[in-house]
Amino acid sequence: MRLKGKIAVITGAGQGIGRGVAEIFAEEGADVVVSDLKLDSRTDEVVSTITKLGRRAIAVQADVSKRADLDRLFDTASEKLGPVNILVNNAGIETIVPFTELTDQQWEDVTNVNLKGEWMAAQIFCKRLIAEGRPGCIINIGSIQAGKVLPGRTHYAPSKLAIEALTRNASAEMGAHGIRINCIHPGLIETPMTDWVLKSPDILPQVIAQISLGRPGKPFEVGRAAAFLASDDAGYITGQAIYVDGGWVGK
Ligand code: NAP
Repeated sequence: MRLKGKIAVITGAGQGIGRGVAEIFAEEGADVVVSDLKLDSRTDEVVSTITKLGRRAIAVQADVSKRADLDRLFDTASEKLGPVNILVNNAGIETIVPFTELTDQQWEDVTNVNLKGEWMAAQIFCKRLIAEGRPGCIINIGSIQAGKVLPGRTHYAPSKLAIEALTRNASAEMGAHGIRINCIHPGLIETPMTDWVLKSPDILPQVIAQISLGRPGKPFEVGRAAAFLASDDAGYITGQAIYVDGGWVGK
């Protein structure tokens, strides 16, 4: 168990990749704060799965685009579970809009969650770690679209490519404090976000043909990569971005 005794905060953990990461982290021995925009039966299920694995888990509502929510998230996490060691910045949204039709509001909605949210959560966590004199680890979830053009994503793709720069620059400043920061760019992963692709008889075969391993990925496969990056096995890795995409970006 590579994360035994660690406490992790995971945003957007009620479903999809966040849920996959949460469950793998628990299997690896971590206690988990399951955070999401809404608390409902999905977050209840994730908490219950983790508890059954013998780990502690709580669900905490937080909109990652709101600093006050993120402050409350970290306050609650440390009050209820103890000092947080790992943050997985996973919450994100995707919309598909042609470039010339994109509105200011659509740009802001995506950027505020995908980029500003990850920046604010990372900053809040790092300030707390530094004040407490503790090391820590952050995994930022980007996207295949940091390296590959998909139509209608002139707002989403920049928000995800910027995660790589955020990771690199923040890791350079935080290394001296023993805080490692890395990024995972998932490819096509089976989640509610990609359900429409997975169910499309036209689009799915076109995408699969571009993936070296010839299949979509599962949330737990992103979870395993995240568990490695969060573990001491990755103790000398920081500022990096890794594609967990079955070989899509380079094909
Ligand atoms: P998903 O199935 O849509 O799950 C995302 C979760 O984040 C949902 O529970 C959602 O809540 C929550 N969320 C949305 N806005 C939020 C906010 N403002 N604050 C807190 N939580 C919020 O997506 P996913 O496929 O698991 O994606 C997870 C991450 O991986 C995202 O950053 C996404 O961009 C990235 N990614 C996914 C893929 C893929 O193939 N699936 C590929 C590349 C990158 P609601 O359901 O209530 O909105």
